[in-house]
This record gives sequence, C-alpha cells and structure tokens, in this order.
Amino acid sequence: MTIKISKKIKSYSVQKPEDKAREAAAPVAAPLAAVVDFPGADIIQMHEKVERPEVLIGNTYKIKSPLVEHAMYVTINDIVLNPGTEHELRRPFEVFINSKNMDHFQWIVALTRIMSAVFRKGGDVTFLVDEMKAVFDPRGGYFKAGGVYMPSIVAEIGSVVEEHLKSIGMIIDPELSDAQRQLIAEKRAAYENRAKKKSESTPLSGDVAGTGTDSARADEAVQVTGDGASFPPSATMCFKCNTKATVIMDGCATCLNCGYSKCG
Ligand SMILES: [Zn+2]
Repeated sequence: MTIKISKKIKSYSVQKPEDKAREAAAPVAAPLAAVVDFPGADIIQMHEKVERPEVLIGNTYKIKSPLVEHAMYVTINDIVLNPGTEHELRRPFEVFINSKNMDHFQWIVALTRIMSAVFRKGGDVTFLVDEMKAVFDPRGGYFKAGGVYMPSIVAEIGSVVEEHLKSIGMIIDPELSDAQRQLIAEKRAAYENRAKKKSESTPLSGDVAGTGTDSARADEAVQVTGDGASFPPSATMCFKCNTKATVIMDGCATCLNCGYSKCG
C-alpha cells in the first residue's frame, strides 16, 4: 500500500505485530458499539457537534434572595432535537444569569459558561442539579416563599435548573403514590381539626385572652405561608424535603409536605 505524504513528518513509530492484531479486531468492535449506543442511527442525541440554531426557545426564572440586593434572572435556552418526529427531544443548550448586582459577576460568568458547556456535551446533565443544590453558604442560607430552605444562592440556581429540567421532561419527579398523598391529606386534616377543636373548647374556660390566642392558632392551621403551599407558620423544617412543613402531631414530628414522620 502506498501512502502519499503531504505533510511534515513530526513523529513516527514502527508497527508491531500486536498493533496489527488490534487493528484487525477493531473493525469488528466498532460497529457493535455503534449498534448499542445508537439504536436508531437517524435519531439525533445531544452532543458537542450539534450546532446552535439561530433561534432557541427558553424560559427565564427570577430569583430573589435576601443574601443579594437585586434579583437574579436565570435564562435557560433549549434546543429541540428531531423536531416533528416521535423522537422529539427538548434539551437545555445554554444558560445566562443577569442581575443588576455586579458583586457576583465573575463567578456567575464562570458558572454559566461551565454549565452551558456541560449542557452541550449532552448525556445525563441532571447531576448538575444535585451538585449545585448541595452547595451551602457558610454565612447561612434562607427560606424562600413556600417555606423551602435554600442553603445558598448556588443551590437556588440549582433548584431553578431542576424546575426547568422537570418542565422539559428530563427529570421525572418521583411521584407520590396515591396512598402517600392520602396519608398526607389525612395528617393535614387531623392537624387542622385539632387546632379548630382547641379554639372551640377554650371559650368554656371563660378566659377571654386565651380565646384570642387559640383562635389565632386555628387560623394558623390554614394560613398560607408562601405561594401555592400552605403550612402552619409554626412548622419547622423537614430534613427530607427542606420545607418548613413539619408539625408535632401526637408527640411525633410529621411533615405535611412530603409525609415524612419521625415515628415511621
Ligand atoms: Zn418533608
């Protein structure tokens, strides 16, 4: 076999018998791997070589943390792969974070560029969510609306990414079973009834001041603490779902959000 050398020779190596053997084995191995990796050759998966179309669709999420003066706006743009086919996929392509606040500018730029690069690599990018949500601020976190504890701003950005990946079907929420949902509803009803009963029984004692505080407690049971979620304001944080929704019921800490109970 003659090979025309058109470029400068920078290095060379002598072909050994074992190299030849490997070469002989390679053509067999390669198509096999291709079959395993790509069951349908015409289905496009996310990878580095996918070019950015002129227009992308996306969502912008607002983050308002007490740790920073101005709100942050997180924009995640998606690419639609195999549009119009049964293999249509929406995958995140890039992320931008905007804010009036310039204090965090350099790490935000670094973070968004790295995240965008991970998105474009393709594969399972959901690990980003876990990594980011595990970051805690040594100065302490904060509660956002709805009573969910955020250990840091990075963690909140992570939960925004999670929300987005859920909306495009990349993360599937471990749905609560009907039995679990019913259990939570029962516990909630029991808690609210108990609070109501307390306020009804107090007037019998004739204590006017007591009536005031206990009816306040009855209100507390139904008071809405954040957007969408309603948990008693006296609820403490659940260590399973990071939500301020744990109440003491029959001497047992019970979460009205995820149903976690210390007593099983
Ligand atoms: Zn919980």
